[in-house]
Amino acid sequence: MTVFGGIEAGGTKWVCAVGTGPEDILASVAIPTASPDETIDRAHAFLSSAGPIDALGIGCFGPVDLDPGSPTWGYVTTTPKPGWTRADVAQRLGKRLSVPVAFDTDVNAAAVGEQRWGAARGLDTFCYVTIGTGIGGGAVVAGKPVHGLVHPEFGHLRIPHDDAVDPFPGVCPYHGDCWEGLASGPAIAARWGKPGEQLAGEDAVWELEARYVALGLVSAIAVLSPQRIVIGGGVMEAPGLLGRVRERVVELVGGYLDTPALETAIEDYLVPPSLGARAGVLGAIALASALA
Ligand code: ZN
Repeated sequence: MTVFGGIEAGGTKWVCAVGTGPEDILASVAIPTASPDETIDRAHAFLSSAGPIDALGIGCFGPVDLDPGSPTWGYVTTTPKPGWTRADVAQRLGKRLSVPVAFDTDVNAAAVGEQRWGAARGLDTFCYVTIGTGIGGGAVVAGKPVHGLVHPEFGHLRIPHDDAVDPFPGVCPYHGDCWEGLASGPAIAARWGKPGEQLAGEDAVWELEARYVALGLVSAIAVLSPQRIVIGGGVMEAPGLLGRVRERVVELVGGYLDTPALETAIEDYLVPPSLGARAGVLGAIALASALA
């Protein structure tokens, strides 16, 4: 029998699992993200004891090097996270476990997981977006996760920002008021002086957030023509937010694309992940299974 390892390598924790799919996880563990050496040692120890595995999939926080011809394929590249700049993730785990490794961004992996077992089943062109500590987006186009020059970085889309309505300058260290700078969880907390969980029912907070989230989504719709957008992350758990975002998306598209998906059927178009918080690690297992 063939068994796979999966790692959702996040900036705050690594979720590791061994199995073949959502109904067949033999073991899993969450490891706090410490230094690269310590985190990789612990992931290796878990995968060795829970295995043996035949292949490993990794969905990693980034930016990452996805170029199979590059000597630093499988590395985290320019992250501001201390200790992780140019850290080898995939090459050394593959060597230590003596297995082939599939490596992609955390959000591309989650997209693949949703395609295989979740809310994007049967689709070949769609997006997976997460609005949380950061904003990330993965895209599958014509059946394949998009890499290209580096990989998509939805979080750093530039969206309209009216200083008269919202003078907050944004929190992105590179761009200030990009999408992540204006609409991530830390942006909400910095703008309003407390985290989103303490702002439930504050209409102005969630109307502005819905507008910003929708502005990013309509850009993705215009560029990629996704058949569906799966949207998750901690911020999207705010009561009523998804409904408000759907309304704003329909409004901003303005009937131009003449499809029910962006009008009356928006509830089937803009949907939460059906694998929930497991999308990333299950997607990593799906990536590994493609190597077998
Ligand atoms: Zn940015």
